[in-house]
Amino acid sequence: MVERALCTGCGACAAVCPRQAVQMREDWEGFHYPVVSKRSCIDCGLCARVCPLTGAREAGGEASFFAAKAKREADRLLGSSGGIFHLLAAQVLQEGGSVWGAALGEDGMLRHTEACDQSSLSRLTRTKYIQSDMTPVWRKIRAEAREGRPVLFCGTPCQTDAVRAFLGEERGGVILADLICFGVPSPGLWRRYAARLEKRLAGTLEGVSFRDKRNRDNGHTCAVQAGGMEHVWPLGEDLYCRSYFRGVNLRPSCAHCRYCTTERASDITLGDFWGIEGVRPGFDDGMGCSVVICRTRAGRALWERVQGDTQWFPCRREEAANESQPRLREPTQAHPRRRLYMGLWRVLPFSLWLKLCRRM
Ligand SMILES: Cc1cc2nc3c(=O)[nH]c(=O)nc-3n(C[C@H](O)[C@H](O)[C@H](O)COP(=O)(O)OP(=O)(O)OC[C@H]3O[C@@H](n4cnc5c(N)ncnc54)[C@H](O)[C@@H]3O)c2cc1C
Repeated sequence: MVERALCTGCGACAAVCPRQAVQMREDWEGFHYPVVSKRSCIDCGLCARVCPLTGAREAGGEASFFAAKAKREADRLLGSSGGIFHLLAAQVLQEGGSVWGAALGEDGMLRHTEACDQSSLSRLTRTKYIQSDMTPVWRKIRAEAREGRPVLFCGTPCQTDAVRAFLGEERGGVILADLICFGVPSPGLWRRYAARLEKRLAGTLEGVSFRDKRNRDNGHTCAVQAGGMEHVWPLGEDLYCRSYFRGVNLRPSCAHCRYCTTERASDITLGDFWGIEGVRPGFDDGMGCSVVICRTRAGRALWERVQGDTQWFPCRREEAANESQPRLREPTQAHPRRRLYMGLWRVLPFSLWLKLCRRM
């Protein structure tokens, strides 16, 4: 298996093991890592072979780049940038397929979840700043791929590449969409923060929108539903998100991410079109705009089927990967005191830990 500092925690190694000798366990920082039981392991090597990080990175096909936003504001309200994921997903559902994305469960934790109809799609939309658990995906998506059903999988680039490696030649009708990604925060730390939110807001957490757009500020607002009430504050004032954007609560592998490039093996990549004002002034209206990168025939064909519901224009690679979009060039650097902060959140009273975050 790959060295610990590089492990993205996708869980493909645990899913592929014929003896359940690999279990995903939460570490001190709150991230999941594979742990191998020497007693059950039969040394078959499947776990090492499925790991997308053990081989060279697949470059993918020649890419075409677009700026796009859903025509209907309601569609854009559903997404964190241009609402393109929702359009792609709705199209796949309409064609009789299903869609995998990250949804918050009733326990407040994030898991990859399947939507088979339009009414369950809204749980999948929008960016959640938590690493999602992929456990529910593996068996089901393999069966769906074998059946040849149309399926859209969307996740971080490391998760999407893991699904590609897991399915191998048996991809069937699975379309892989990945995100431009800043990095993923610790689920354990989120669990702690969510419990604190529930206490502070005096109610069970019913929903979180990390990038709410009601202020037409491109999603720089955080909206939380708890105990039947809605609470709203600027994203920059949320201490959990602050520790995320400062590179404190990121998974260690994010600092070594090899997907911070436009050359990936997914069918489609979606991201915020940061820097759009320098490419086409006036296109941004504060309600979100996406960059769409298509690499394969299947990816392009799906994008073309929803283009009519968007305002879009083609652009050059340099325009999409402009200087406001660093995650297409290099990984996020960890905060210089990351290890100290991440070593302390379980030890200190949580309110004190959050106070420290204020000083970052
Ligand atoms: C953790 C994270 C960091 C990101 N960092 C950047 C960045 O630095 N620069 C940039 O340009 N774009 C980034 N994005 C992508 C961006 O926020 C939008 O998700 C993307 O532009 C698609 O927007 P949309 O409106 O089309 O779709 P949305 O409705 O926003 O849907 C996005 C899709 O992402 C999935 N998703 C949401 N949260 C997670 C998660 N935690 N793990 C896996 N999948 C998830 C949803 O299930 C859905 O399929 C990030 C996304 C995530 C999840």
